Amino acid sequence: MTVFSRDKSFSRRGMGTIVFMIVIAAVLIAATGCSSGSDESEPPLTRESRSRTTETDHSATASTSSGHDAALATDQALAASTGHDEPAQSDHSAAADSDQAITISLTTTSSDSSDHAVESSHDVAADDGDSDHGSTEEAGSGPAHWEYTGGVGQNYWGLLEDDFNSCVDGSAQSPIDIRDTLVSDLQDISFHYKPATLVVSNNGHTIQASYGKTDHGHGGYMIVDGQEFELLQFHFHRPSEHTVNGHQAAMEMHLVHAAADGTLAVVGVLIEPGAFNSSLEPIWDVMPHTAGDEVVMETVVDVYELLPQDRRTYRYPGSLTTPPCSEGVKWNLMKTPISVSSGQVDAFKDLYFFNARYTQPLNGRVILEDATVGK
Ligand SMILES: [Zn+2]
Repeated sequence: MTVFSRDKSFSRRGMGTIVFMIVIAAVLIAATGCSSGSDESEPPLTRESRSRTTETDHSATASTSSGHDAALATDQALAASTGHDEPAQSDHSAAADSDQAITISLTTTSSDSSDHAVESSHDVAADDGDSDHGSTEEAGSGPAHWEYTGGVGQNYWGLLEDDFNSCVDGSAQSPIDIRDTLVSDLQDISFHYKPATLVVSNNGHTIQASYGKTDHGHGGYMIVDGQEFELLQFHFHRPSEHTVNGHQAAMEMHLVHAAADGTLAVVGVLIEPGAFNSSLEPIWDVMPHTAGDEVVMETVVDVYELLPQDRRTYRYPGSLTTPPCSEGVKWNLMKTPISVSSGQVDAFKDLYFFNARYTQPLNGRVILEDATVGK
């Protein structure tokens, strides 16, 4: 009995010990399981989710940058497709691509846009003198009709209207023959042009490419002698208006700018026959043949590409070279000409055989000539 009793008591103690150990073991296993679970399961999940997030970021970045690349590639393709061999039909498909590319690239560049627009001077300085453009359609309200030759030609501009008095009475008129310059150490013009969509018009006096007429139409600005001038438009003359030591170039391009205070500054670029100019051709492709017509270009144009590499200039105070011949214009004529093909000259000649004002008296004005590059 005692044994049994001991046995029973042992058995009870033994069972109690076993149960206790099982409970301890279960607790330990459970505890180990939890800790091992947290060490091996959650971190991988975390790493995995992190890596997934990272991958997502990468792919997002990749798709964004590939979108930019696509836009840039499209821009490049468009730039390439604007060659003179491009058939007219393909312009339509290029147009759709172009719009997308323009939208994207403008989204990326909008932050640096310098759109401190010279709103008031846009109309005032519509061009370097072709101020009757736009009002020619409004009969009776605009300035007098004028031409380069004949009864309303340049010899009579000053007689056509009171506002044109400067054309005959002015003392600081443009263009001039560049000679006897004062060679100086001038600070280079700082160009901040940017690609933009242009409106190309035939205004009855010239072919003009205008900025600020479309959503993506701002062409940037330049800084001359510390003053900022927004680019408004550029246009062409044949033959050149300025001459250098009596030499007249085949053509001349005028880039017209205005400062916030309304002061005008023109950059003149002489054009000589030579190599085909692919930067000019997109404009030549669309220039309207009928006076009064205008075309909104479907591709962006970077006018900076139309400047010569050497951007030293002759500088002098002058005027608009078309009525009303207003003075107070800061002239900057590039010393180095650019070239266009003889075919490109002929294409313009077919529209405007002669649209150049004769050179005007210097009247004691000093012509500065920039002698240094990179200052
Ligand atoms: Zn001009």
